[in-house]
Amino acid sequence: MNFYTLSLFPDLITSALNEGIIKKGINKDLIGINNYDLRTFGVGKHKQLDDTVYGGGPGMILKPEPIFEGVEFIKKHHNINNAPVILMTPQGKVLDQNYAKTFIDYKNIIIISGRYEGVDERVVSNLVTYEISIGNYILSGGEIPTAIFIEVISRMIPEVLGNKESLSEETFNTNQIKYPVYTKPQKFRELEVPNVLLSGNHKKIDKWRSDQSKIKTTSKRPDLI
Ligand code: SAH
Repeated sequence: MNFYTLSLFPDLITSALNEGIIKKGINKDLIGINNYDLRTFGVGKHKQLDDTVYGGGPGMILKPEPIFEGVEFIKKHHNINNAPVILMTPQGKVLDQNYAKTFIDYKNIIIISGRYEGVDERVVSNLVTYEISIGNYILSGGEIPTAIFIEVISRMIPEVLGNKESLSEETFNTNQIKYPVYTKPQKFRELEVPNVLLSGNHKKIDKWRSDQSKIKTTSKRPDLI
């Protein structure tokens, strides 16, 4: 699966995804990430990217030309004319595990990050396929949201995560949060691991885990039920 990003700070995206399982996925060629610098497509000798708001108002807006040209370049250069174009924006549909699943069948995805007060509306209405938000709060740029989107989708590719079971048991995949987990030592500062987990009785362990998931979900995330 290939991601092509267009932003003012491509290094932010590169470094956010350059560790751990995502890096392994890149090395194994399961994921490809190409981060393009919007500045390359800036207007005129100063490579201008932003301008003031028509009708007045605070701040600057990203101009349409560099974004259109950047996306058109990516499509042409990688021969991916039909790839969806995502805009990271607080005005979009909020990303969750379920919504993320709808993107796993794409082979190529182009993602635009905004900055300043956002992007010219003509980008939204004529270039963008999906507007996606990572939550109901405002950040100063779309680069971190882009990295989050790429990470969420990438770890849904079973070979990327390695252990397929971790995916199916994870919080959200069952509309419940995951059961509590413990590791060694068995006793830490008078705090002990629940006995049932040491029993070796897998039926009992499964029952305990399922009960605990329900209890945890009810108390911490009743909105999921
Ligand atoms: N003035 C705009 C917000 C601009 S924030 C408004 O009121 O809607 C600047 C950029 O940061 C946005 O273009 C977007 O790319 C990114 N961004 C900020 N918050 C975000 C969020 N919650 N989800 C996704 N992208 C976000």
